[in-house]
Amino acid sequence: MKYLVIGGVAAGTKAAAKLKREDRSAEVKILTKSEDISYAGCGLPYYVGGLIPSREELIVNTPQKYSGLTGAQVVTGCEAVSVDVKAKKVKAVKDGKAFYETYDKLVIATGAVPFGIGQRQGRRHSDR
Ligand SMILES: Cc1cc2nc3c(=O)[nH]c(=O)nc-3n(C[C@H](O)[C@H](O)[C@H](O)COP(=O)(O)OP(=O)(O)OC[C@H]3O[C@@H](n4cnc5c(N)ncnc54)[C@H](O)[C@@H]3O)c2cc1C
Repeated sequence: MKYLVIGGVAAGTKAAAKLKREDRSAEVKILTKSEDISYAGCGLPYYVGGLIPSREELIVNTPQKYSGLTGAQVVTGCEAVSVDVKAKKVKAVKDGKAFYETYDKLVIATGAVPFGIGQRQGRRHSDR
């Protein structure tokens, strides 16, 4: 079974680690946009405010350490740009080059973006 996980911070790394714990023989691969994975987003205000002096303290695991601990593969600096659910493959771009990853099961853990009141109806604050 091949699991492909898009997004490698809190949800993606947890899902991938759990999948490997449940089935050591499974192939689990994370594709994620940034170079860092598994960082403490909650600590960002403390870093910006100077209470946490170095950004390294926010990083729970490097990709290498995480892969060693869990057995899941990690591809950083890589953006998933489309999903073909019929063919079960994801198109991704890394260093300007496109490639395809196939999967049996796909986990999308790409986070969320906030929206302001009024945007649900397709309006912005400034429209009101
Ligand atoms: C300032 C701040 C303070 C917070 N404080 C708290 C707190 O005190 N308590 C608490 O419980 N939570 C807190 N949170 C929330 C917590 O950090 C988030 O709930 C958590 O990071 C969500 O994890 P996630 O994996 O779902 O998404 P994210 O952390 O957003 O990770 C998603 C990842 O997917 C990547 N990605 C997106 N699209 C693609 C794509 N197409 N291809 C490849 N990769 C992609 C992104 O680059 C990102 O790395 C805070 C967040 C912030 C920003």
